[in-house]
Amino acid sequence: MRIVAGTYHVEMDGGEWLECSLRGRVKQKVGRQVSVGDLVRVERLDDGSCRVSDLLERHSALSRHGVVRRREQVIVANVDQVVTVAAIAAPSPDFSMINRLLALAELNELDGLVVLNKADLAAGAPDGPTALPSEFEPYRAAGYEILITSAKRGLGLEELRERLIGRISVFSGPSGVGKSSLLNSLMPGLDLRVGEVGRRKGRGRHTTVAAALYPFGEGGYVADTPGLQYLALWDVDPLALGQSFPEFRGPAEECRFADCIHRAEPGCAVREALEAGTIAPSRYESYQALLREAEEGR
Ligand code: GDP
Ligand code: ZN
Repeated sequence: MRIVAGTYHVEMDGGEWLECSLRGRVKQKVGRQVSVGDLVRVERLDDGSCRVSDLLERHSALSRHGVVRRREQVIVANVDQVVTVAAIAAPSPDFSMINRLLALAELNELDGLVVLNKADLAAGAPDGPTALPSEFEPYRAAGYEILITSAKRGLGLEELRERLIGRISVFSGPSGVGKSSLLNSLMPGLDLRVGEVGRRKGRGRHTTVAAALYPFGEGGYVADTPGLQYLALWDVDPLALGQSFPEFRGPAEECRFADCIHRAEPGCAVREALEAGTIAPSRYESYQALLREAEEGR
């Protein structure tokens, strides 16, 4: 479903798209907004127009996390995974952004997948398979799957396609890494604009993250959520944030205090793991930055 200026564009089972209005009662009945990705029931009225008459249960959602104290703001409903796209070079990987997006995925209980594009720019490319740059080892160690692709040379696209079939995926990452190029190669006819490295937008509580959902075929959808990478993780519970770094979870069980946020507490096993080298400094630094951000919003 796509929502444009109060009109709900709904894809029917047969693939047909209908423009619908929303029956006033629906919002009241379920007590929440209808979001992109929601499954809805549509009724046809006598005058031939269509309206959304019911909203079905969601199995997941990507939302501005922790905003439960206010109104939950669902960006995309029924999402399965967040695909974090980075480039081997041009631009070089922004690890704090990767860590932010993976934490956002974890906080929403969604799978996180890392795609490392522009493999053709790696040293030694294009001959032979591209090795994973060592800075990405911590992600593999934390349990994330990493796909190495080149939209330019068509490398790794089949593996990526397999991960997208039958699922709703959100693509995010800095501009210029090749998200549009990857999606255009996978979904001919989609024709997303391929641009040059763009300008950074401000981060903030009111950053709007509009979403549109594109049918990928084979039962999959790709959500375009521009600005997601700049979404501030305000209002996030610090304890939940610690849990959103998978490699912290084991050590965290050994922390002296159950409510340890792994900052300066005595007997913190996460910091011990950092000192022992089993937690990567870059991951811990990102955690610290996100923790400060989470506290800022409280
Ligand atoms: P987006 O901002 O993440 O959507 O990135 P785009 O798809 O607009 O691509 C940004 C630039 O990178 C364009 O000039 C693309 O042609 C280029 N690009 C995309 N994928 C690759 C790739 O695999 N290898 C190389 N060398 N360039 C690529
Ligand atoms: Zn701790």
